[in-house]
Amino acid sequence: MAIATINPATGETLATFTALTQEEIAAKLALAETTYQKYRDTSFEQRSQWLNNAAAILEREQHQFAQIMTLEMGKPYQSAIAEVQKCALVCRFYAEKAPEFLADKIIDSDATKSYIAYQPLGVILAVMPWNFPFWQVFRFAAPALMAGNVGILKHASNVPQCALAIEKIIQEAGFPPGAFQTLLISASQVAAIVEDDRVKAATLTGSEPAGASLAATAGKNLKKTVLELGGSDPFIVLESANIEEAVSTAVKARMLNNGQSCIAAKRFIVIDSIGDRFEELLTTKFKALKIGDPMAEDTDIGPLATATICEELDQQVQKAVQQGAKVLLGGKSLTENPGNYYLPTILTEINPQSPTAQEEFFGPVAMLFRVPDLETAIALANNIPFGLGASAWTNDPTKQQRLITEIAAGAVFINGMVKSDPRLPFGGIKRSGYGRELGELGIKEFVNIKTVWIK
Ligand code: NAP
Repeated sequence: MAIATINPATGETLATFTALTQEEIAAKLALAETTYQKYRDTSFEQRSQWLNNAAAILEREQHQFAQIMTLEMGKPYQSAIAEVQKCALVCRFYAEKAPEFLADKIIDSDATKSYIAYQPLGVILAVMPWNFPFWQVFRFAAPALMAGNVGILKHASNVPQCALAIEKIIQEAGFPPGAFQTLLISASQVAAIVEDDRVKAATLTGSEPAGASLAATAGKNLKKTVLELGGSDPFIVLESANIEEAVSTAVKARMLNNGQSCIAAKRFIVIDSIGDRFEELLTTKFKALKIGDPMAEDTDIGPLATATICEELDQQVQKAVQQGAKVLLGGKSLTENPGNYYLPTILTEINPQSPTAQEEFFGPVAMLFRVPDLETAIALANNIPFGLGASAWTNDPTKQQRLITEIAAGAVFINGMVKSDPRLPFGGIKRSGYGRELGELGIKEFVNIKTVWIK
């Protein structure tokens, strides 16, 4: 994929970038390594101050950053503003909490004193997707920098201006020039970087094939990886739920970011007795969504990030129909507009065993299933290769506990939509990846957990 800014609302190419040469990459890796040797000795106090500065820059220039995001990948402007603010939040969170999370931990043993020390690892590579182009990067960078690591970023090819803006924010915040660098490179240039001795670990947020490819190279070189991959999260609604509230949240949970979120609710699993009501309310609310210019403040749904994503989503919907699904709403792109617009879509009567029912729909497409009871709901929720998050709606405490225990996913949210929060760990199981970001566990993924024993 060419490294370029292509406005998804118009299809117009606004800027193109040349990928770095091998020599340029080598120079950046050398700078990262020399910076690390000094940066690792900076105090938490100093790092916190720089990270708080980054938060202040994000807040001060939020409109500019939101505009770059919307321009490059089409998310509605208001969500882009919320994303910038969330980046400031994660910076402030780790600036405050990292010293506590990474403090030496005394453990009683046969020593006079024994404890765990958390030390940085060195240069960490982050390969990131375009869907939350600021958030995905800051949720890696904030803990990595606080832990004393330095970061190099390979961002998605369609968000180069976001990638450059983030590098600039971190430098303007006061971090040394090599502490966080953006590498404008293609996916094919990633493996050599993973193999480089100076790179100690890597994290990738994106698709299964990209994750598997990066992890294979890292595995051959015995380097740790964290993978945040795709999902097809269930949204289960049982009889005792507040249906109005569940449907309102369902719309948000499916349509956030024009439907392009890993933790979006994608499969709606509803108990038969409330199925008609749920379907009717969902259809009405989907129909009411305003599709259009993502820069306009009242737009609910903007264009999909690229023309290819829009075409592939449509092919997936058509395949689902061939395999027996019925289109209740939408099911096609908005051809009268020049951009990559896809209509809010509801698929019903889907055969749970059909191949498309096992896939992730990365766009505004809801799959609606009806089930007779809780057992069937849980079995259907788990009948998928992914295991990222799950949202379940019931006011019955016994059923809540069964859902918490039996759903195979990295997160279960009861009576609420799955969301990330700097305070809580985030990540998946099965083909959704491994490792955790955010919270105390997130900052401990890329540290040397050193055992110290003194006689
Ligand atoms: P993608 O194609 O995998 O791209 C993600 C990043 O990986 C981009 O920077 C891409 O670079 C790079 N990449 C692609 N192939 C690679 C390879 N073989 N080796 C190394 N790097 C490679 O992902 P996408 O389809 O754009 O993003 C959507 C997917 O990400 C969905 O499945 C979504 O669920 C998942 N996602 C997961 C999370 C989570 O936290 N679990 C969050 C957001 C998104 P190029 O752009 O240059 O190809």
